[in-house]
Amino acid sequence: MANAKESVTKQGNIQVQTDNIFPIIKKFLYSDNEIFLRELVSNATDAIQKTKLLGSIGEFKGSLKTAKVEIKIDKEAKTLTVSDNGIGMTAEEMEKYLNQVAFSGAREFLEKYKGVEDKQTIIGHFGLGFYSAFMVASKVEVISKSFQTGEPAHRWTCDGSPSYSIEPASRKSHGTDVVLHMSEEGEEFLDESRVRKILTKYGRFLPVPVFFENNQINNTEPAWTKKPLELTQEDYSTFYKELYPGSFEDPLFQIHLNVDYPFNLTGILYFPKIKEHFDVQRKKISLYSNQVFITDSVEGVVPEFLTLLHGVLDSPDIPLNVSRSYLQADANVRKISSHITKKVADKLEEMFQQNREDFEAKWNDIRIFVQYGAITDVKFAERAKKIALFENIEGKFYTLEELKEQLKDGHTDKNNQLVVLYSADPESDHGYISRAKERGYQVFKMNSPLESHYLGHLEQTNEGIKFARIDSDSPEKLIDKGIEVPCKLTEDQRSSLVGIFESLKEDSTLSIAVENLSDADMPVTVTESEFIRRMNEMQQMSPMGGQAYRMQSAVVNANHPIMVSILEKEDEEQQKNMAKQVLDMALLSKGMLKGEALTKFLERSLDLLK
Ligand code: ADP
Repeated sequence: MANAKESVTKQGNIQVQTDNIFPIIKKFLYSDNEIFLRELVSNATDAIQKTKLLGSIGEFKGSLKTAKVEIKIDKEAKTLTVSDNGIGMTAEEMEKYLNQVAFSGAREFLEKYKGVEDKQTIIGHFGLGFYSAFMVASKVEVISKSFQTGEPAHRWTCDGSPSYSIEPASRKSHGTDVVLHMSEEGEEFLDESRVRKILTKYGRFLPVPVFFENNQINNTEPAWTKKPLELTQEDYSTFYKELYPGSFEDPLFQIHLNVDYPFNLTGILYFPKIKEHFDVQRKKISLYSNQVFITDSVEGVVPEFLTLLHGVLDSPDIPLNVSRSYLQADANVRKISSHITKKVADKLEEMFQQNREDFEAKWNDIRIFVQYGAITDVKFAERAKKIALFENIEGKFYTLEELKEQLKDGHTDKNNQLVVLYSADPESDHGYISRAKERGYQVFKMNSPLESHYLGHLEQTNEGIKFARIDSDSPEKLIDKGIEVPCKLTEDQRSSLVGIFESLKEDSTLSIAVENLSDADMPVTVTESEFIRRMNEMQQMSPMGGQAYRMQSAVVNANHPIMVSILEKEDEEQQKNMAKQVLDMALLSKGMLKGEALTKFLERSLDLLK
């Protein structure tokens, strides 16, 4: 100890304008008081990271192998201690950092962000980190010894009033112990399981070993901090399971982000199998800053459609000291956000180009994502155009361009618009589909939950194309260029037919339309306007929900031979019964015949067989 420095004993007052800063901080942050632990553990981690940095330039000569942060609870003494063997602080440094730096941070914080909603993310970035200890402690002791040779250890004590003291203390090697004497509000943090939970939440990927009750709680080298080349697909899947314990499905694929200019961003975004229930899957991207967990609400940082992805983003360049609405306006955040969008589009395009077959096999799981992106993000929509697929009933996939090429002959309507016939439920629509196919039409499968929105988007952004569900009208009307089929009935016959069917109209939402279709068509078909149905579906998906309102029609084919048989029946009752039977058959095939109507239909059928 050639150049041992002298110990210091000192009392003083922290320079604040108001004595009341602690109560203000306490009150202000009360609901988020668990973050004190995040702040103290990150400070401890930083102190160790600094020894590594100094070690690399030869200024720190101690061992780095034993570097660790340790958290201990003493229920009897009612203390929680966060210890590290990092760079430590001299008496002057404690005075400077704990009294001045931290306090100026606290003041600035209070002045600037009195009205900010999202308080917890702003604390660390105002040097308020250390002071958050007073949210839970009535007294804080900091025992620290600097790594510099010959510096003695000191104890800094403060009871939450602006006065503090510094006195000599004993600590053998460099590092810091922050001892919190818990106040009544803080007693909950003397509970082991509570503390473990908080530590895991914020610290499970911290870069230095963190121990609690003799167990290491963290993985210091999470996959996103490694180079993509070092990782196999299995490593990515293993990390996914580490992120979401209990998830039994593997992700489809992932994107490893690794940027250091002009902003710093690392992370892994996983494509989950989204299927239908895409809302429950949200809130799965966690935002980290230098491996410290910050939040799992990333709205504002990534475009909305990307919140369907899972994984981790780590960027010290995302300002955490502003509210969400400011976040979106931040230049860095905007760059990060569009970088991510671009990477996601690149990845999808690469997969499409490198192995189309595999891409097609995954399509059903990624389509909601692509569709959602196309609807909500103009830039992504441009990219999505090239890779979005359309699957026909036979299971063959087409891009939009291929689809247009495929349908250009024989699938246009009167106005020369390309009409894409689709079914949301090929099983139920079997009858409609086989009739369309008999006429040589192609039918596509479109049944994602976003379909109505997505098809609307495609129609708006592509001239000359429209989508019509197979049951939205008769194919003649949808596609054929207005080829009129003459009516085989006389005018009188036709109007009595209208009369018979009109008299059956019990279900008020079902309107009756008598049309002259081909005699090969079904006698009655239930149809629903494409426009009304889509409006309805979109309404139901909107957050406010909406009254399901349907407008279906029974299209009666005047040219079907059975209509003549109906007209030939002698009495009105028989005519009605027979008409009712054909109408019910159409309803039955749509799954719309239920309850009493179904029973009556079956009874009538039996009578007819007698
Ligand atoms: P911030 O960490 O945002 O700078 P804090 O209020 O949390 O603000 O801490 C103030 C300063 O006190 C830190 O910048 C650091 O210099 C010092 N400090 C806090 N905790 C430790 C520690 N465990 N070891 C060494 N220095 C520390």
